[in-house]
Amino acid sequence: MKKLLSTLLVVVIVLAGTMVYRAETVFEDRQPGPASGYSEIRIDEQAAVQRFAQALTYPTVSYDDRSQFDSQAFRDFRLFLEASYPLVSEQATRTVINDYSLVYHVPGADPSLDPVLFMSHFDVVPVEENTLGEWTHPPFAGTVQDGIVWGRGSVDDKIGVIALMESLEALLADGIRPQRSLYLAFGHDEEVSGRDGAARVAEYFENQGIRFDFVLDEGGAMTQGMLAGIDRPVAVIGISEKGYVNLVLTVQAPGGHSSQPPPQTALGILARAIVRVEDNPFPARLDFLLPTFDAIGAYMPFGTRLAMGNLWLLSPLVKRNLLSEKDSAAGIRTTTAATMASGSPKSNILPTRATAVINFRILPGETVETVRQRVVALIDDPRVQVTTEYGTDPSPVSPVESRGYRIVAGTIRAMDEAALVAPYMVRGGTDAKFFYRLSPNVYRFLPVYADAETVEYIHGIDEHLAIEDYLRAIRFYYHAIRQAVAAG
Ligand SMILES: [Zn+2]
Repeated sequence: MKKLLSTLLVVVIVLAGTMVYRAETVFEDRQPGPASGYSEIRIDEQAAVQRFAQALTYPTVSYDDRSQFDSQAFRDFRLFLEASYPLVSEQATRTVINDYSLVYHVPGADPSLDPVLFMSHFDVVPVEENTLGEWTHPPFAGTVQDGIVWGRGSVDDKIGVIALMESLEALLADGIRPQRSLYLAFGHDEEVSGRDGAARVAEYFENQGIRFDFVLDEGGAMTQGMLAGIDRPVAVIGISEKGYVNLVLTVQAPGGHSSQPPPQTALGILARAIVRVEDNPFPARLDFLLPTFDAIGAYMPFGTRLAMGNLWLLSPLVKRNLLSEKDSAAGIRTTTAATMASGSPKSNILPTRATAVINFRILPGETVETVRQRVVALIDDPRVQVTTEYGTDPSPVSPVESRGYRIVAGTIRAMDEAALVAPYMVRGGTDAKFFYRLSPNVYRFLPVYADAETVEYIHGIDEHLAIEDYLRAIRFYYHAIRQAVAAG
């Protein structure tokens, strides 16, 4: 007995020692060095802010109901860009794709080098009529006050369009001549899937046989206070994004009067199916968190390192912990959200047809089809038909060792030495998803400082941006493009 106890004690001590050792050694400091040659650029800040404010006055709104599309606003926005950036208009070739999306091209001196692509989108989400009164400044007035630019699109994502145009104008004014070809692409329907905009832009490039050294779109940010235990800003660069699918559940049944119902109506059968899907969430996987922890693990508190450095033992505990918050849960599993349902149009008539929509955000590794198959198996009821309404598979994962990633990460570090840089998986969708056929190196980042509050107002009330953030974005693109179009 005594021997057993002492053996047990040794095992416990060795185990604890191993865990602490791993917590202290697994996570090395892997922060990239700052990009060299970084300097402040000369821009007329006031004029640049004025142009940004004006860009926000065009109601380039994407509606789910495409009949509400205001084509004039999109055309006016294009004319505004043309007039506001004379050097770009003079020296870059502009191509209009599918009537509204825009591609700018500045050819490189060395055609043997793969070009680079910087992207953004100029459509914005609608402002709900009944929330108009709650805006501090009207959403399409382009108000600038006390260092802040107010309006729909100020963060998502006219800042990307305007900061890219400003930086290209400044680069041309400085006489920078690219070695590699530079492309800018601005989609016009990102907020409603990007199928008419970015998808067509990608086709346009594909038809010309163009391959990119790397692609940079929106999707990451300078996060603040969003990673527990790290008080420095963390720049997260999207290296992959989740997929998306709406599955439609349909049940058909004989109708009739509700005074003589069968034991289950079409709606009842449907409800049972939804409950089965909800009660069986997709399994959690930690592998998409690992690149993030690899990059910033050394800066995390001891408890986090202890857990993440010993997943061989603690992964069930870590999963349970992450699944307890809906935000972190979305990072480690395919999410399930029943969003729409309909039955009979009248209270005393049995439904002949009941339908529901369940929206899934799919982790890389699974596909639209594997999600559908799992749902069919879970429901296990031939009366419920499961069809795919719209879906896109998750993206591949781009490497963190590429030239493109180094340029983005190095530029961030040069601009803010205190900032940490980490790759991550984007939970929402971006236009970048259409570009994997054109490059294995597809990244998502915009240098805006974002905290939990920013996430709230991006598609909500009072979208706004500090002038400082806007000017930083111009500087970021200026330096990133300058390195990107160099030969090396
Ligand atoms: Zn966006």
